[in-house]
Amino acid sequence: MECMKIEELLQKLIRFNTTNPPGNEAECIMYIHELLKGAGIDSLILGDKGERLNLIARLEGNGSKPPLLMYGHVDVVIAADQAWQHPPFEGVIEDGYVWGRGALDMKGAVAMMISAVLRAKSEGFIPSGDIVLCIVCDEENDGIYGAKYIVDNYPDLFKNIKYAIGEIGGFTMPIGGKRFYPIMVAEKQRCAIRATVKGQGGHGSMPVKDGAMAKLGELLARLNRSRLPVHITSSAKMMLQALSSNLGFPTNIVLKSLLNPVLTDKVLDLLGDKGRMFDPVLHNTVNATIVRGGEKINVIPGEIRLDFDGRILPGFAPEDIMDELSKLIGRDIELQILSYDRGPERIDMGMFEILGSILRAGDREAIPIPFIVSGVTDARFFSKLGIQTYGFTPMILKNDIDFSRLIHSADERIPVEALDFGAESIYKLIVGYDG
Ligand SMILES: [Zn+2]
Repeated sequence: MECMKIEELLQKLIRFNTTNPPGNEAECIMYIHELLKGAGIDSLILGDKGERLNLIARLEGNGSKPPLLMYGHVDVVIAADQAWQHPPFEGVIEDGYVWGRGALDMKGAVAMMISAVLRAKSEGFIPSGDIVLCIVCDEENDGIYGAKYIVDNYPDLFKNIKYAIGEIGGFTMPIGGKRFYPIMVAEKQRCAIRATVKGQGGHGSMPVKDGAMAKLGELLARLNRSRLPVHITSSAKMMLQALSSNLGFPTNIVLKSLLNPVLTDKVLDLLGDKGRMFDPVLHNTVNATIVRGGEKINVIPGEIRLDFDGRILPGFAPEDIMDELSKLIGRDIELQILSYDRGPERIDMGMFEILGSILRAGDREAIPIPFIVSGVTDARFFSKLGIQTYGFTPMILKNDIDFSRLIHSADERIPVEALDFGAESIYKLIVGYDG
């Protein structure tokens, strides 16, 4: 490893086509296994299916502190039908970037974790607590063979672990001329909901008014005009207070007023696109994504099914969103929960300060802030074991690169400088970790 630079490691990882589905992460996982073995670190290979594997390695500590978990996924989303400047699975290095699918999400971060662990090992460093490195498959498709699988089947491997670092956080987010670094401390929960809209059916030749189709139209129009009720959760409060207290007038006042539930929606309307990232952290949300109804051109359907991608704030339950939705669209519409993925419930900020100080050491202008993610990550599985995840894959990004627009898109790429920054920061965490 001493002779392999981090950008070369990332290049190798990108060249394994781990598009999920089908994933086929085994070769990539075995490559990492061999790499660690070469440095004297044994790892366990776990998996239910030969081509879907996971790896767990330990850098042994002296046992004076609890172990610390670092986890990442090596599967990636599809790159087909997108216009790439460089082929997505070649890992071309050009203009100071490593290009390719997974550079940001999240093979780049996996490379940072591996190289930080290898560096500590090569220096003979013994941390206070074990550093547990866990590289999984299948994050992009519900973690069935990945994090969910190992949490369900091997909980003992994570004994005594309180804290973990994972994806979504630690990167530069410029706002109002300041350099913020969000660190994910909470995420929303997924809940798929089905509405069944019923009405008078009949022959297509006879006019029918106020049938299921008309009700569906009204329902969708109402959803389009409204939001579910405002909720100020503790994580949203922490995030918005941290932002507003570091910004000047009038942005600070605007952001603070989002925390006043009487004003929240009005301010969001005024902010328009600029307020887009705040809307989902202040509401449970539903998006209608699938509609099924009607089979034949001359038969008026008496029933239409509408499926919603529902997202619930931390601390709330499916009954809450069902109740809110029902109030909005009318009690006569039948609602049913199709699936629910419970997320982390409480937030433990115990490691936030150390992560923030590492970021400030790497970038003197860094302002670390707690962050709530509107999507879901593998954090929800590890939280079942009582583990608090922090989104911490540090990347120093200059203004010409917008993390949120490149993720899952064409021309996904990471600056080599950001890779070095991340590996250095994670190394600092390993040597500075004191539980
Ligand atoms: Zn990811």
